[in-house]
Amino acid sequence: MKTLTCDLCDTTAQGETFEQWMTALQPHYMQAHPDVMNDPDGDMQKWMVDNKARYEAAKED
Ligand SMILES: [Zn+2]
Repeated sequence: MKTLTCDLCDTTAQGETFEQWMTALQPHYMQAHPDVMNDPDGDMQKWMVDNKARYEAAKED
């Protein structure tokens, strides 16, 4: 299990895998950062790569 903050604020989410972490973060993202999720210029692929690297680098709880 790893705990990582949101990439845009200090809210944290937990997950056993990157996919679980992303799923756990999703409700927060939709509530707190809907503009980012709806950004037509947003690069989801880049977000995934950047945040997966962050997840991989984090320590296990
Ligand atoms: Zn956030």
